[in-house]
Amino acid sequence: MQRTCIFCSAQLDDSTSPEHVILNAIGGRLASNMIVCSRCNNQLGHDVDGPLASALEPIRHFLSIKSGDRRKPPPTLRAVETEHGKVDVAPGKYPLLSKANLETQPHGELTKITASARSLEEAAKLAAHGLRKAGITSREDAKQRLEARPPTITGERQPFRQQVNVSLAIGGGAHFRSIAKTAFEFLAIVRPGDAHAERFDVTRSYIVSGEPNPRCVRWALDLQPPMPFSLKALGRTPHSVVVWSRAAAPVAGIVTLFGHLRFVVRLAEVWDCEPFGFAHAVDPISGSSLGVVALNPVPPPLLSETLAWRQVDLVALRLAYEQLLAACADEYETQATRKMVDDATAPVFSSWTMGQKIDGRMVDDLAQSLAREYVGWTDGDIGELQNRDTFIDIILREFDKLSEGKH
Ligand SMILES: [Zn+2]
Repeated sequence: MQRTCIFCSAQLDDSTSPEHVILNAIGGRLASNMIVCSRCNNQLGHDVDGPLASALEPIRHFLSIKSGDRRKPPPTLRAVETEHGKVDVAPGKYPLLSKANLETQPHGELTKITASARSLEEAAKLAAHGLRKAGITSREDAKQRLEARPPTITGERQPFRQQVNVSLAIGGGAHFRSIAKTAFEFLAIVRPGDAHAERFDVTRSYIVSGEPNPRCVRWALDLQPPMPFSLKALGRTPHSVVVWSRAAAPVAGIVTLFGHLRFVVRLAEVWDCEPFGFAHAVDPISGSSLGVVALNPVPPPLLSETLAWRQVDLVALRLAYEQLLAACADEYETQATRKMVDDATAPVFSSWTMGQKIDGRMVDDLAQSLAREYVGWTDGDIGELQNRDTFIDIILREFDKLSEGKH
């Protein structure tokens, strides 16, 4: 059978690149080159999935979520605001200052030079700049002053004594489009003959053009509980997608991210064929994937719009989701997941409002554990630096380089 793109109807062939149903960036592994053409894959990946993937970066980061296909670690979070300046946090590493900083202050007849840096070399370089800034031009003078008042070195941890604020903003139009895309692409995999049907045009155009369609995608629950950042508090973290329908009922989907962020998608107003129900889940921590399973029995329908979504969802959602969890119960109790649970940091979101910006705040515990653990310089380095002559030598070497540069 010839396959065509579910968005633009372009022909697909062996060279079509695989499309990830759940975002690759957050660990999605189910992919197919039989549903979306490479052009739509690229363009929608950028315009529709990109914003959601970026919005989820803090979660990816704190849970160390690897990408689905090549198991790449999440990128470094840059310029996270702290009370004492911005820090960069690489996955699995302790935060480092985003930018080194040099201050020179008059101190009686002397000048106090303070350098906040990310490495010894950088500190020495800054100190050398500080000397120039204080008007010292000759090497002899610099040496004499450094020897008279040797530099003190500390593994400064100040930024992390304060709370680190990370904000997670989910709920913009593009985010919902990406969610609808996930559900629709899953439908295209499990019902390959149907995704092109006219009854899905509203969903298709919503995904492609972003035309506002609030009836297409909803948060599952009006009031979500606070979204925890830690695995311990999150519990299971599977991403999942479920699609199902029964005759004369709407075609429905549930997309759940990180076991917690749950969306309901209405893919079509009405279905006139036999009932169906399919589910897929992937654990982004261990990478284990459930594949595709048929739901039996098919969950109850999402009822007509005369009922409030909320009333409808709670019944159908619970059943569909419980079936899914039962189906993948064995998949997620892996060693890897257990270990991650134990290792997890404990930041917590303070608030959660439907479809609104969510301000996340890492709790003191995390800040303190970072403070305790973060030593940019190893004990060995610091020990070596207690030999002040060594450090003075390094500063003077940098000072020489600066002087050479000036000539
Ligand atoms: Zn296409």
